[in-house]
Amino acid sequence: MSSASYRSELLGGRLAVNFANTGPSQTDLSWEELIQFLDNARIISPERSSQLMLLPQSDSHAAEGLFLKALRLRDSLRRIFAALVRKERISHQWAEPVNEVLRITEGHDELVLEDGQWRTEFMAREDGLDWLLAAVARSAAEIIMEGEAARIRLCANPHCGLFFCDSSRTGRRRWCSMSVCGNRHKVAAFARKHASRGHAA
Ligand SMILES: [Zn+2]
Repeated sequence: MSSASYRSELLGGRLAVNFANTGPSQTDLSWEELIQFLDNARIISPERSSQLMLLPQSDSHAAEGLFLKALRLRDSLRRIFAALVRKERISHQWAEPVNEVLRITEGHDELVLEDGQWRTEFMAREDGLDWLLAAVARSAAEIIMEGEAARIRLCANPHCGLFFCDSSRTGRRRWCSMSVCGNRHKVAAFARKHASRGHAA
């Protein structure tokens, strides 16, 4: 996997947003990219990741089932986030793939202590493959409940297509990443200014 696509997975700021960003909507995710995402997001261990990479060969039926569910979930997330960006209503139909994963993933909440702060963490049952998508679906459900307060934005670069959570104090973040799209924009603006000056002279 290239460093560019690895980076794009981590720019969103929240798990469901990162998952929606795993590829441009028009191209499909590969099995390897799905497993790599789960590994990068620390949903699975590197050992489990290497086992799962081989699943299409050892159990193609199970791999295909999970893969189709993941694609459906990602497609819905992109529709949901696009609606949040445009301040439009989220349709029941788009929430269904999220519910589908929530419904079949058995588990429980457990108290965990992190940085001196108690919080609950969802522990999915680890038999079966559906639990792999459980954390993504729960992250999506939280964002849907927060609605506009989640501050989901689409990168201002029209060729980018990545979503992100604007956690800036001013709430005016425009780019998925200042070092990628923000910088590109600055360079283009500088070039335009330079060109028009040259033209005038
Ligand atoms: Zn961008």
